[in-house]
Amino acid sequence: MSKSLKIFAPATVANLSCGFDVLGCCLDTVGDEMVISLSSTPGVKITKIVGATLPFETHKNVAGVATEALLKEYGKNIGIEIEIYKKIKAGSGIGSSAASSAGAVWAVNHLLDSPFTPNQLIPFAMEGEKLASGNAHADNVAPALLGGFTLVRSYSPLDVIKLHTPKDLFMTVIHPQIEVKTSDSRSVIKNKVSLQKAIHQWGNVGGLVAGLYTEDYQLIGRSLEDVIIEPLRSILIPEFDTVKTTALKNGALGCGISGSGPSIFALSRGNQNAIVIAEHIKKIYDTTGIDFDIHVSKINNNGVKILNN
Ligand code: ADP
Repeated sequence: MSKSLKIFAPATVANLSCGFDVLGCCLDTVGDEMVISLSSTPGVKITKIVGATLPFETHKNVAGVATEALLKEYGKNIGIEIEIYKKIKAGSGIGSSAASSAGAVWAVNHLLDSPFTPNQLIPFAMEGEKLASGNAHADNVAPALLGGFTLVRSYSPLDVIKLHTPKDLFMTVIHPQIEVKTSDSRSVIKNKVSLQKAIHQWGNVGGLVAGLYTEDYQLIGRSLEDVIIEPLRSILIPEFDTVKTTALKNGALGCGISGSGPSIFALSRGNQNAIVIAEHIKKIYDTTGIDFDIHVSKINNNGVKILNN
């Protein structure tokens, strides 16, 4: 049994326009690094955090909470030490907390010689999400743990399916560094949805899943449409409409809000298309005076991965 593991904990894009709280996908070149070690002192300890100001107390850090949930089920009070090298900004909408939760449980499971399957790790990581947002959602931790595109078919009982991932899909993500209060992004959402909109939305979810399996890029693009959440939430994101129109005009298959925002994603066929879209979006945001990061990444079909020390 190895004693220490350095891993890449990926960023993720949840919702994917039509799949609020149920769809997500995993990025390849955007993510945190973590070092997880077995220790002879029982208990879970966060020993180092670089790149962000986050709590060291185990019960306040999502990596600690998710690891404790795993160990409770494992049934042995072993010692774990966690170092977090944060690169995904908290509150960006690309799964900052999910990366830490998923990365921690994936690595601990690996160090224990894999007593749990990747799917069995999801509920532990969801405990971290519960701490971060008050809601144990799985649409970021599932793609981080399983890789590729994932669908939460049901929350109760939990039923998560890894979908087929066409090889040629790339994401462009812009993260405008504005603070969107979680309370604001929640308060704009309505609790009731009209039947007409629901029909539109579940047609698109089915279309997107079919498009992924048949590698029909046009169908994927047609299905990346959100008639429920995006019209309400996009008003909180500066230049959203201009970014979306520009991305689509320049070859994106689809464009929408990443998670609860403020990041915006555009999905493209091929790396070159994704780079061209990044250049266009950059020009739009350059005029706003708002700080931003832009990422271009292939879809990562593996999820968390081991890095060489
Ligand atoms: P994102 O919007 O990128 O999905 P979240 O909003 O899910 O990010 O997570 C950010 C929240 O989780 C912040 O309140 C942050 O303080 C808290 N948090 C606790 N531990 C961590 C951690 N290890 N990594 C990131 N966020 C953490």
